[in-house]
Amino acid sequence: MIANTPSIRRSTHRVVVRWKDHAVQVGGGAPVVVQSMTNTDTADALNTALQIKALYLAGSEVVRITVNNDAAAQAVPYIREQLDKMKIPVPIVGDFHYNGHLLLQKYPDCAKALSKYRINPGNVGSSRSRDDNFAAMIAMAIEYDKPVRIGVNWGSLDQGLLARMMDDNGRRAEPWPAEQLMYEALIESALSSAHKAVELGLPADRIVLSCKVSQVQDLIAVYRELSKRSEFPLHLGLTEAGMGTKGIVASTAAMAVLLQEGIGDTIRVSLTPEPGGDRTKEVVVAQEILQSLGLRAFTPQVIACPGCGRTTSTVFQELADQIQTYLRDQMPIWKNTYAGVETLKVAVMGCVVNGPGESKHADIGISLPGTGEAPSAPVFLDGQRSVTLKGDNIAQEFQKIVQRYVEQRYGASRQGTQE
Ligand code: SF4
Repeated sequence: MIANTPSIRRSTHRVVVRWKDHAVQVGGGAPVVVQSMTNTDTADALNTALQIKALYLAGSEVVRITVNNDAAAQAVPYIREQLDKMKIPVPIVGDFHYNGHLLLQKYPDCAKALSKYRINPGNVGSSRSRDDNFAAMIAMAIEYDKPVRIGVNWGSLDQGLLARMMDDNGRRAEPWPAEQLMYEALIESALSSAHKAVELGLPADRIVLSCKVSQVQDLIAVYRELSKRSEFPLHLGLTEAGMGTKGIVASTAAMAVLLQEGIGDTIRVSLTPEPGGDRTKEVVVAQEILQSLGLRAFTPQVIACPGCGRTTSTVFQELADQIQTYLRDQMPIWKNTYAGVETLKVAVMGCVVNGPGESKHADIGISLPGTGEAPSAPVFLDGQRSVTLKGDNIAQEFQKIVQRYVEQRYGASRQGTQE
């Protein structure tokens, strides 16, 4: 048999990130969770709440916010209140650097409103205060019953640890190359901090780990090794992935390899937004990575041919785009109404070469006329040729066919399930 599925997921503790009754499970066999992060000023509570809402509606299951100063920490309970008023149950995670121990102690309402704390062991203080500050943050997590992510980043690696490891390396008969030292330092920082947190009393099933780097091969190397050395769930992400296509491709390349190997329990795609760009794009990309690998299903998929010289009009490109947008726009309603609709496959093809064949393999397919072909578009439902659309309203008529198909197939299956 030729295998066509990802490796069995690595076994991990199960961490629950919750807000009131709404619980998101990370690891322990749960589906890979999609995360995102806001880029608003957290002190601007209203705009931050609105961006969290947009990220949640796009499909983000956990949203992280920066908590970097007094104003941000004071805003957190109001952000939570706004979300609750808007009936947005998504758990929010506080991202702390340098002063997290102070802010969590000074603002207990902030500590309570957050559902998880992100701690960067490289940024909790100088060598003298580091242990005390880290212990203070763990004490707050224990007091408020919150999980933490111990998130190491190669750009802010614990300098004391790195210096010690470099000294040790210098004494080796054959010193390791610099990148090996960096890998070991990242992994050691994450694991030693996690073990320290457990010693301080935080249960192991409240800890998620990450070791973020900005190069694809480095990320794969570090996470492969990290996954062998612990049972903590892993948060995957390529840090500083970059803008546009570069950021999407680099993140996908790195995460797809690891996810295929069963490594990774939650992902975040760190895209640098284009000026005026939509922050929710990182959520869509994360979902597409998971759905392309067959790990999860979020939205009906449109299979569209790339087009070529056989179809010189833009009709089929526009139709593919309209249908994809239509399907994604419907999902906030459909996902609560039509169980299983996220697995729907729709094919939009440019001519008769592959059009009918690909359409028959999808749930719904349409084969548009190529250059010089008769101006008609056969539609296939469940592999069977159904109607043939003609004229100027093919897009609208096809959309109605999709809507009817969804109502009949998934509406009926939901009723059947309830009976
Ligand atoms: S289906 Fe037709 S139009 Fe589309 S890529 Fe293939 S040959 Fe070209």
